[in-house]
Amino acid sequence: MPAIKKEIPKKDKEAVKPELFQSPKGMHDILPAEWILRDKVYKVAKEIAEFYNFSKIETPILENVELFVRGVGEVTDIVEKEMFTLRTKGGDKLALRPEITAPVMRSYLQHGSHKLPQPLKLYYLGPVFRHEKPQAGRYRQFTQLGFEIVGGESDPLYDAQSIIATYRFLEEVKVKNMTVQINSIGCRVCRPNYRRRLVEYYKKQKICKDCANRLDKNPLRLLDCKNEICAPVKIGAPSILDSLCSACKAHFKEVLEFLDEVGIPYSLNPHLVRGLDYYNRTVFEIFTEGSDLALASGGRYDYLAEMLGGRATPATGVAVGMERIIETVRADTAYQNHRFRPKVFLIHVGEVTKKKGLALIEEFRRENMPILEALGKDSLSAQLERAAKMKSPIALIFGQKEAYEESIIIRDMENGVQESVPLSKVVEEVKRRLKA
Ligand code: AMP
Repeated sequence: MPAIKKEIPKKDKEAVKPELFQSPKGMHDILPAEWILRDKVYKVAKEIAEFYNFSKIETPILENVELFVRGVGEVTDIVEKEMFTLRTKGGDKLALRPEITAPVMRSYLQHGSHKLPQPLKLYYLGPVFRHEKPQAGRYRQFTQLGFEIVGGESDPLYDAQSIIATYRFLEEVKVKNMTVQINSIGCRVCRPNYRRRLVEYYKKQKICKDCANRLDKNPLRLLDCKNEICAPVKIGAPSILDSLCSACKAHFKEVLEFLDEVGIPYSLNPHLVRGLDYYNRTVFEIFTEGSDLALASGGRYDYLAEMLGGRATPATGVAVGMERIIETVRADTAYQNHRFRPKVFLIHVGEVTKKKGLALIEEFRRENMPILEALGKDSLSAQLERAAKMKSPIALIFGQKEAYEESIIIRDMENGVQESVPLSKVVEEVKRRLKA
């Protein structure tokens, strides 16, 4: 009698199978295949940071919300709309960091780092969170590399140095056709005058509702507005360069001279203001041709330390969006041919060889020799196929007979020639063959 299959009604089937989870909107898994390229980019970041004498710093992913409200500014997109916040069981209000400059300054002040030789040159690489509308190049979790030069004088050399380090990093990872847009947004002395001129100008123009609301609180932000009503109005806005005080003018001139000296091309953009409150004097953004998404953005932030309740501390820095970099350079031939370091492949046949196989892997590790394995239940031929696919030059075949005799077969994967050697000699023999 044929077995009677009991059909589960469709409705019940649906009820039994829960929907598969997806990663949160705008947040992505970085799968193993992605790390080949990403690791290369990270490696260059580390090399550049070390060359220019930046030391690594890591701050917590969560910080007090107030750090960003005070540091980044209340009337900014980040604080108004984009922070992921939570309340702890103890009642603290924390935020997933939407940027890492304020945390770095918090750390500098908290640890009394002004007592160390100044300036402190710091770099970081880590995740940042912003509740933005996800789209290409704009995510809710992304990775920033940052260079910060904190303390010492408000020396234009440091502004130039953070641009140089970033530019060289982008060059090294093969970003092509870069433009550095640069501007000075003045200081406490000259900016109020420019704000007045800007307000006067915008009051006479037709602007979007958001801009009308922020005109009194933060008029510089109107220059950042992408709304189609406001974008053309910006063209006729007064240039801040005409309002700079003599100290800011001299500072900016020197920054540009340093860039000229090392051959970094730039273009002046008098309407570049950046969305964060802490900037003064130099601000810059780096783009690649044909994209209006900045790859890197930064500037001087001499007032941040005081805004956070600390002593006056000149500082300058930059943040680079690693996902945008990776997407820009992905197609470059330099990243196409990844060369694997060939590894020996350990094949085992039968359950009894598993334990000894595991011990053999440890022997290879002690000698710092990479080894691949498939300690599963695959057949000999399936494992050999895998070894060939991984381009292993040598396969070690460990069968029941070999385990019993304390030996192992060494197979030359190129010509198929096999030789049995004592287990105690295998590491030595493989080393000799790989050297030959
Ligand atoms: P900001 O902190 O806004 O100055 O941004 C610094 C850099 O981070 C930018 O130049 C971008 O490269 C990158 N970035 C900013 N926002 C995002 C985002 N939502 N998704 C991916 N990268 C971003």
